[in-house]
Amino acid sequence: MLQDAIERVKGVGEKTATLFHKEGIFTKEDLILGFPISYREYPAPVLIQQARDKEWMAFSGVLKEDFRGNSGNAKGFLFAKVFDQSGEIILQYFHAPYIRKVLKKGMQFVFFGQVREFKGSLYLQQAKYFSPEEYREKQRCLEAIYSGTKGMKSYVRRKAIAEIFKEDFRYPDLFSEADLERLSLRNKKESLRLLHFPRNFKEREEGRRRFAFEELFFYSLYLEKEEKEYKKVKETVLYQEGEEEDFQSYFPFALTNSQKNCITEMNRELLEKKRIFRFVEGDVGSGKTVIAFYLLYLTMKRKKQVAFMAPTEILARQHYENALKLFPNGIALLLGSTSLKEKKRIYKDIAEGKILGVFGTQSLIQELVHFQDLESIIIDEQHRFGVKERRKLEEKGKFPHALFLSATPIPRSLAKLLYGSLPLSVLQEKPADRLPIKNALIHKEEQGKAFSFILEEIQKGRQAYVICPMIEENENLEVESVLSYEKLLRKSFPENVRISVLHGKMKAEQKEEVMEAFKQGKTQILLSTTVVEVGVDVGNATVMLIENAERFGLAQLHQLRGRVGRSALQSYCIFLDRKDDEKSRERLEIIKNSNDGFSIAKEDLRLRGPGDLFFGERQSGDLQFHMADPILDEALFRDARLEAERILKQDPNLERHEKLQNAFLKMLEADCP
Ligand code: ADP
Ligand code: MG
Repeated sequence: MLQDAIERVKGVGEKTATLFHKEGIFTKEDLILGFPISYREYPAPVLIQQARDKEWMAFSGVLKEDFRGNSGNAKGFLFAKVFDQSGEIILQYFHAPYIRKVLKKGMQFVFFGQVREFKGSLYLQQAKYFSPEEYREKQRCLEAIYSGTKGMKSYVRRKAIAEIFKEDFRYPDLFSEADLERLSLRNKKESLRLLHFPRNFKEREEGRRRFAFEELFFYSLYLEKEEKEYKKVKETVLYQEGEEEDFQSYFPFALTNSQKNCITEMNRELLEKKRIFRFVEGDVGSGKTVIAFYLLYLTMKRKKQVAFMAPTEILARQHYENALKLFPNGIALLLGSTSLKEKKRIYKDIAEGKILGVFGTQSLIQELVHFQDLESIIIDEQHRFGVKERRKLEEKGKFPHALFLSATPIPRSLAKLLYGSLPLSVLQEKPADRLPIKNALIHKEEQGKAFSFILEEIQKGRQAYVICPMIEENENLEVESVLSYEKLLRKSFPENVRISVLHGKMKAEQKEEVMEAFKQGKTQILLSTTVVEVGVDVGNATVMLIENAERFGLAQLHQLRGRVGRSALQSYCIFLDRKDDEKSRERLEIIKNSNDGFSIAKEDLRLRGPGDLFFGERQSGDLQFHMADPILDEALFRDARLEAERILKQDPNLERHEKLQNAFLKMLEADCP
């Protein structure tokens, strides 16, 4: 019955169903598996005199007058005052002519909304209004908010989900009641209810835990499988003693000890005819690419095939271009944006073994890509991919040598859970010639100062990044967008300073042109969204200004900052905080005071409250878990790992655990986004 079409839900008509379809929701199950992105907590009503700018608050008050204003004009603002024994606040609505009819002078309601202070008056914009009883009812539960990008309103979704929960459906669990009890987990159905309709954050956390456990459990099953498979003997030996010296001669610098150690270990494994299967961890700028290129070099020198996957087109291209310096022939770049004709040529050449090294994004794991004989794979920024993608690339060859690079700063105990007994190299040190990045945290009034500083660097022959959170302006948000910022920069800098713009919606060729010009120093300021977040390497860029720094997660800020400080030049990073309240300042102080990814991550965790545990940045990007946060859920991760080990010990191929096996295979085979 959960397979029923969404139209079968009470109250879902054709129009609503169409909206659901646009969100990819077709069945009742799709609907209940779409988790909220956040929750609204209805606070207890307070006296109007306690109103504070920017806060979400509730007031119980009486309308002092009927609504005034013109609902007919473009903006259509309507106003009315509300009072209680302590003061007055002005209700403000736009695009809401009906409000005149429902809210009238003398009526009493509880109003909930965000307070705004403007020229000494208090406003409540687009407030929701409730009878006191209704409001008490609201306060009993957290209200789930769903993502709904295509015109779908959260309350429509909430209502439909509530209807499903009124029906008595069965939702089979992968684990028995006894197992769940032993693991202190709720069953799946109950957990779903707690996620959609929690009474408080504690209940929501219980619901989340169940789904987080499942993710960590499947990850652990997968890891066990990898641990078993990695010990394969390879027939060809990729390495000959002394070869690393030849490799070194391609680089103008001496390798760091960490890099050397990692290469030595790989050499030893190769001489023993072992399969290389190695995770390489190191903070931004520690020089992980050199390691990847070593495997690329050994493989291609023996005319064997290697696939090199990166999460963004810009990064894949950068690696490709660097590889051209080592191997001018026999390599190709395969991107989503590559023309069909070119793709076909590349597919053919890969299958025939004419192309040895292929660089790309997820385009490399598409079904049409067949290698003649894939000897090695490399995944850069591997935490950006899930195990599915890792698997898919591996399966393009027969147990290929594999290197996985990532900059996720993780504690040792977690490394054990994430990589088990698989080889791990940690690049501890940065190249010796690096100076620590100098950081500044400023508020919006100091923007001009930041611009002057950037100009000084440019006059010394350096280049700068300016990062904005958005591409286009959004009138509802006070957030800097690349497109409007461009005008500001052009006004603020002399005409001979060349500024270029980069964002995700640009065509691939345009992006390429802009990146190329910046790399060659033809432009001085690169104004960009976070598309440059990972991997991009331009040593002459020494300043970064991050606008609306408060809108980014700390790990993301650290990655962004990693775009400067990539050469012997002194580099600077300026974080501009537009929120400028105590909490945001405290958080940004962390990144200002430290250049060490690991200690930043630790501090970040310490600061998080129960309200933001759920949708922290790590879920969205790093490590590819949706509900689990491997760092916060370390204990749960350990349980999941033990459970996976326990089951596999009794039943190595999961033959006696059919449901589990099916779910596991389904996960591995699912299409990658
Ligand atoms: P990440 O670990 O962030 O991927 P990269 O591999 O991109 O870092 O290296 C950052 C920069 O440092 C690159 O320009 C690279 O050429 C340079 N680099 C790498 N190793 C060394 C070294 N041993 N000495 C000096 N510079 C190095
Ligand atoms: Mg890198």
